[in-house]
Amino acid sequence: MARLVMKFGGTSVADLSRIRNVARHVKREVDAGNEVAVVVSAMAGATNQLVAWTREASPMHDAREYDAIVASGEQVTAGLLAIVLQSMGISARSWLGWQIPIRTDGAHGAARIAQIDSTILDERFAQGQVAVVAGFQGIGPDNRITTLGRGGSDTSAVALAAAVKAERCDIYTDVDGVYTTDPRVVSQARRLDRIAFEEMLELASLGAKVMQVRSVEMAMVHGVRTFVRSSFDDPDAPQNGAGGLPPGTLICGEEEIVEQQVVTGIAFTKDEAKITLRHVADKPGVAAAIFGPLAEANINVDMIIQNISEDGKFTDMTFTVTAADYDRAMQVVKEIEGMEIGAVQGSTDVVKVSVVGIGMRSHAGVAADAFRALAQKGINIQAITTSEIKVSILIDSAYTELAVRTLHSLYGLDKA
Ligand code: ASP
Ligand code: MG
Repeated sequence: MARLVMKFGGTSVADLSRIRNVARHVKREVDAGNEVAVVVSAMAGATNQLVAWTREASPMHDAREYDAIVASGEQVTAGLLAIVLQSMGISARSWLGWQIPIRTDGAHGAARIAQIDSTILDERFAQGQVAVVAGFQGIGPDNRITTLGRGGSDTSAVALAAAVKAERCDIYTDVDGVYTTDPRVVSQARRLDRIAFEEMLELASLGAKVMQVRSVEMAMVHGVRTFVRSSFDDPDAPQNGAGGLPPGTLICGEEEIVEQQVVTGIAFTKDEAKITLRHVADKPGVAAAIFGPLAEANINVDMIIQNISEDGKFTDMTFTVTAADYDRAMQVVKEIEGMEIGAVQGSTDVVKVSVVGIGMRSHAGVAADAFRALAQKGINIQAITTSEIKVSILIDSAYTELAVRTLHSLYGLDKA
């Protein structure tokens, strides 16, 4: 017997027949003697519709009312799943964030979970009851409903798993695990059996869309073993009872990964923009003068390159921001006062391709191999950043597929 948190995303609860299918997955775990809490998202598309209505009502709406509205999608699916489970003879009860309670900070629309009281759930587990918890929501210090940001029910699930000390958090979604890269771009992509928390955090931050970034962060901090699998599998397939894990990807600590590869995956994001300031004075305080105002405007700068000036007087400075922030960033730099800038150039036709793997810590030459392989394909590198476990390369977006495919086979990730 184990304690499990099972999370089902929007496509997995898209209609009643999908909800019935979810209930069969839950029943299987209950029949196996497990204590189960289920976290659900709103039906696919429901939250988008609620957000649209909120905007239509008034573009400048009150954030507290936004939360009151958009949190309602999960209330519906939690109630429906509880009813379907009951009709199958399983004791089940729905729970909204405030009823548990799941306490958050007061950042309406993007709240962070502060604390989850497990008392009620512990009682219900002891009675053999399944708790069906509405994801994405909590209650703020002002006693009002909060939401955790789009995709936030992943975070609800992982946080709940940490709070009730679950053995595992199973994330049921519309893909059957985490892949070495996007299988829609590289047909040779392989599903990973296991991936370390840190690697998953990098991949999620760098464009892999399997789980909300914050949920991976939380899993890492609390050591919550998280298993990504498809809800579209047959709930009663024999593989499910076979003792080991069914097809999917376990996100876990490094020590659980026996055969560590040097590189685990290749991520890419097209959501990038590049800005270059030409002929800026090369003297102390210049970086502060440029990046200070960007920070004040709440614009996140990612890669930064400053050239060494030939004459010690002027240099070029290049940096990247998300495509969504591009126009605002251009505006901000053009308005920087008291600084001589030759020209401001920018482009959104760039993509950031990243090579990720904890094995890089102990292997030299991973980055050099990537640069060489891209050069052989005639792909020009515009910017580079590295960390202990990743190398990110900015290139012309026209070469995205070629670059990702090249790196994927370079590091031996292609499927056999
Ligand atoms: N329903 C919310 C959303 O669409 C939360 C979630 O699905 O994770 O963003
Ligand atoms: Mg999601």
